[in-house]
Amino acid sequence: MAKTKIVIGNWKMKLGAGQSLRLAESLRSLSAAGKFKGEIVICPDFTVLEDVGRIIKKTPIRLGAQNAALEGRGALTGEVSPLNLKELGAYYVIIGHSERREIMGETDALINKKMAAVLETKKLIPILCVGEKRRGQDPAAVFQKQLTADLKNIKIAPAQKIIVAYEPLWAIGTGKVITGKEVLRAHAAVRHILEKIYSPAIFARNFRLVYGGSVDEKNAANFAGLADVDGVLVGGASLTAVKFWKICVSLLKSARRPE
Ligand code: PEP
Repeated sequence: MAKTKIVIGNWKMKLGAGQSLRLAESLRSLSAAGKFKGEIVICPDFTVLEDVGRIIKKTPIRLGAQNAALEGRGALTGEVSPLNLKELGAYYVIIGHSERREIMGETDALINKKMAAVLETKKLIPILCVGEKRRGQDPAAVFQKQLTADLKNIKIAPAQKIIVAYEPLWAIGTGKVITGKEVLRAHAAVRHILEKIYSPAIFARNFRLVYGGSVDEKNAANFAGLADVDGVLVGGASLTAVKFWKICVSLLKSARRPE
């Protein structure tokens, strides 16, 4: 069964507050002008989450966050609770982005706790990022290690949705474009591992797989018709409204409407 396609924009820490609000306003205008089928998500930084949420409130664009704390409440100075993200109107949250794994030293054990805390909110949809560092490295071995640890003891409620983002580090922010064959092989490997950890039925019901790494308005269409690819996660190209919208049109024009 085909799954609802999704395009996710990760603004990282690239924009000032004013720039973020202007980008959200541009996306709001674009969304009023054109119809699409599928879901669109933007993930601004925490400081503008609420304001961006207000701007996109009456549009089909949904709000996501870039990270969450490892528990709902606690003595965790400087962290942001997934409960507060939910309260501020976020639907999605990126967990285990490679920049957090590599630069902030997030381990799979920590990511596992974050996944549990996010699912505990019973509303937020985690976007769990996995991927190999070097091109040519066997991604299946990396997924096996990451997914087994990141999802350890994680039970999935029937209605809970989870997105797994395949993001090879060598393709993030580098302009190196992955081939369709490489994506297909990697996504099939992720699917097999998830079907083994859970079951084919749970995979089909609860999971979607997206690709991320130098997706832009020129190559987005390459990912539209690929099996096991339910959407894309976009960094750099999500910072320009028109580019991001072109990606949304490429990916979502042939997709089903959200259920
Ligand atoms: C990312 O950081 O998640 C990402 C996909 O970035 P870019 O699109 O810039 O490669």
